Amino acid sequence: MNKILNLTPELYQYVLDNSLREHPVLTELRQFTATQRAANMQISPDQGQFMGWLLQLIGAKKTLDIGVFTGYSALVAALAIPDDGQVIACDRNPDCTKIAQQYWQKAGVAYKIDLRLADALETLDKLLANGEASTFDFSFIDADKRNYINYFEKSLMLLRQGGVIAIDNVLWSGRVADPNDDDKRTPVIRAFNETLHNDERVDLSLLAIADGLTLARKL
Ligand code: CA
Repeated sequence: MNKILNLTPELYQYVLDNSLREHPVLTELRQFTATQRAANMQISPDQGQFMGWLLQLIGAKKTLDIGVFTGYSALVAALAIPDDGQVIACDRNPDCTKIAQQYWQKAGVAYKIDLRLADALETLDKLLANGEASTFDFSFIDADKRNYINYFEKSLMLLRQGGVIAIDNVLWSGRVADPNDDDKRTPVIRAFNETLHNDERVDLSLLAIADGLTLARKL
């Protein structure tokens, strides 16, 4: 039996009305991004709030944000971690990240975010080469789907035991369960989900929130 509610627009609005405590700069950033191209790449505010809650639950100080876009999830992380915490934000796009930086500054937490404008795999390799394996508490993967498995493997190396990796878009608008879907990224995400399901190095939970969010805890 299907125990997940069908989230009607009215019910989703109810969820927001009765739980959202969004930082005013996050609200501003979200509303600005909604007017931009590729606006649907931004995570939803309830997902952001959940991630901030999770970061505080695990006492995260050092985090990775793989795929910055206009900076919403990195800002969520920067607001959730302590003053001496650090977000390593990975993205190649100078235009989107310029917007991100403006809002990070406006929220007064830019000093916690270290933007690395480069191929994310290169940045992760550099962190590993720099002796930072097993030092991160959290990694949010939300970049090109083709490299999800590589981002996952490198994040796993960079995380401490008990650290959490959150992976976005794992339900891919529901296409993962549609046998007639012809999007070329769908099989990539299906294969990724299957690999994680069988990965005994992590505890796992696939949440049917937003576009699907998998949480993997390093054992
Ligand atoms: Ca996403």
